[in-house]
Amino acid sequence: QVRVRFAPSPTGNLHVGGARTALFNYLFARSKGGKFIIRIEDTDLDRSTKESEEAVLRDLSWLGLGWDEGPGVGGNYGPYRQSERNSLYKHYAEKLLQSGHVYRCFCSNEELEKMKEIAKLKQLPPVYTGKWANATDEEVQEELSKGTPYTCRFRVPKEGKLKINDLIRGEVSWNLDTLGDFVIMRSNGQPVYNFCVTVDDASMAISHVIRAEEHLPNTLRQALIYKALGFSMPYFAHVSLILAPDRSKLSKRHGATSVGQFREMGYLPQAMVNYLALLGWGDGSENEFFTLEQLVQKFTIERVNKSGAIFDVTKLRWMNGLHLRSLPTGEVIKLIGERWKSNGILTESEGLIVEEAFHLLKDGIDLITDSDKVLSSLLSYPLYATLTSAECKSVIDDGLPDVAASLLAAFDGGELLGALEEGQSGWQKWVKSFGKSLKRKGKSLFMPLRVLLTGKLHGPEMGSTVLLLYKAGKSGAVASQVE
Ligand code: GLU
Repeated sequence: QVRVRFAPSPTGNLHVGGARTALFNYLFARSKGGKFIIRIEDTDLDRSTKESEEAVLRDLSWLGLGWDEGPGVGGNYGPYRQSERNSLYKHYAEKLLQSGHVYRCFCSNEELEKMKEIAKLKQLPPVYTGKWANATDEEVQEELSKGTPYTCRFRVPKEGKLKINDLIRGEVSWNLDTLGDFVIMRSNGQPVYNFCVTVDDASMAISHVIRAEEHLPNTLRQALIYKALGFSMPYFAHVSLILAPDRSKLSKRHGATSVGQFREMGYLPQAMVNYLALLGWGDGSENEFFTLEQLVQKFTIERVNKSGAIFDVTKLRWMNGLHLRSLPTGEVIKLIGERWKSNGILTESEGLIVEEAFHLLKDGIDLITDSDKVLSSLLSYPLYATLTSAECKSVIDDGLPDVAASLLAAFDGGELLGALEEGQSGWQKWVKSFGKSLKRKGKSLFMPLRVLLTGKLHGPEMGSTVLLLYKAGKSGAVASQVE
């Protein structure tokens, strides 16, 4: 049976790279009718936090990647947190000591430092020299009776090669002489990461280990431990890195990198999942739009690419637009309505206004957050209040349409723009002759003009306002044009 796991270390937020690893595991499990397991790798007690564990699990749920075994759901292979599996690690360390695959090393830190220095001087790799590898029982007993602290070291074969057949990268091999005898248990009894992972993957009956490329060096150590314990080895698949557009490793300095940040920015889980799947995978056709269900149907590990994939936020954004427009309208209206209400743009989260606004804006947005600014500036023009006010009525009754017709003529004839080009004095001259031709002055001239030229009944001195609008429009200095 296919059993795969996603094994986050709860030391931060779920990064897009981690999310993609989780997704590939999920898709593999679902496409094979297997199990998808979550294991929390919290052996680093100083850096692991409960909040981070909760945040990672929340983000996975938000993406729709539900798990069959793990925190919150249990299962037959628990516990699913490494911090709760210490007795198991002790048991297997003991077993390896007995079989001789592991030995006790009583070297002090100073001694180890010295070994490193000597290796450096001799230009050799800084590996353990094997001082305690062949100690006699008596020598070991003597240290034990003195209570000297010790680590447990894995006895690495001194020659030969180790090969694995990676499902994505093909054959990967290592020369064993580059690897010194490594520690699997610290002197304080804490098991070392690679040892825990191996014991867990084996005892949880994991069939396929799908994880990030950066873990490839760990695979060598883990494979040696598998062999020593007589466990059958899982298949390995190491997924390539996610890169920034400049092909460096994607990091915080490139902008948002955590799933939570994208959620807050208004991205949809459907779009995130679709986009992450395309980072290193494709179904071989031109098609790029997939729902999670479609991905489950199409996914094969053989089609996962071994070269690095570039994370392109512009494409993610575009893809979000596709998903936004393909979701059932009711669902999007609900999302967007709740957003407008919580942002104080509308007083209600559903109803006719929300629907009308959504239909008006939907083709111009990729993220639901894009709609906020447009809608709030549209609504900030108080058309209804202006037109229904008694003051405006009197302006309209006072001949607004006639003034509008003449204004249009002045605009078409070029007189108005010509006057504005001359500045304040040009404006003054024009306004005077405009009033004369209409036989209007004072309020009955200025009120209709103000409404027509500024869209408002009141405001700062009109000549300067109109000149400002004219100059700003001409220079392109207006940052956000209301569309
Ligand atoms: N805990 C590791 C990480 O968060 C994953 C190790 C593994 O998948 O084997 O990177």
